[in-house]
Amino acid sequence: MRGVRAALAADLVAADTAVADLELEQANAESELEPVRQRLVRNQHRIADGTVADPKALGSLIEEVEHLQRRIATLEDAELEVMEQLESAQADREKLRAEAAVLDEELATLTAKRDAQLSELDADVAERQGERAAIVPEIPADLMALYHKVGATRGGVGAAELRQRRCTGCQLEINAAELRQFAAAPADEVLRCEECGRILIRTANSGLRS
Ligand SMILES: [Zn+2]
Repeated sequence: MRGVRAALAADLVAADTAVADLELEQANAESELEPVRQRLVRNQHRIADGTVADPKALGSLIEEVEHLQRRIATLEDAELEVMEQLESAQADREKLRAEAAVLDEELATLTAKRDAQLSELDADVAERQGERAAIVPEIPADLMALYHKVGATRGGVGAAELRQRRCTGCQLEINAAELRQFAAAPADEVLRCEECGRILIRTANSGLRS
């Protein structure tokens, strides 16, 4: 989704550029028109106020007025075309902005959801650490050292439950001969998985006959 948002951001930059270019083009068209319009108004006044008495001069003034009117029509057509392009570029940009807003909202929702899950996990970890801190002092130092030594090569987990005759650390089944040994072992003997070396925790579900 972030990739899509980045592509959209690039499209938005391009759309902004297109709009800015057309705005400049329209401003140029307008500044080209302005002096022509002024000249037309000036000439129309001069014809209307009767200060030009010479018929020949008046004739060429009228001719110039007609020429200026055609010139203005041409420039206005060109400006109108630019304005239509500008409107369409602005509409495209609005569409992209709306898409970006929807995506940003979705991203914000997902981010909030992720943050909530992270803080839930943090709370969970803190709770487990509290439980662990309470248990550690009750465990003999040599057993704790063994746990850490095994854990160092087993992703930090040095012990696993023995469940249904299976080591839940490596998921392998304990063979029958070993199971007999485990079943006969005293409760305080440290049992270990032959495969992964983890300390095996016996429970009522371990599958050992007593
Ligand atoms: Zn194992």
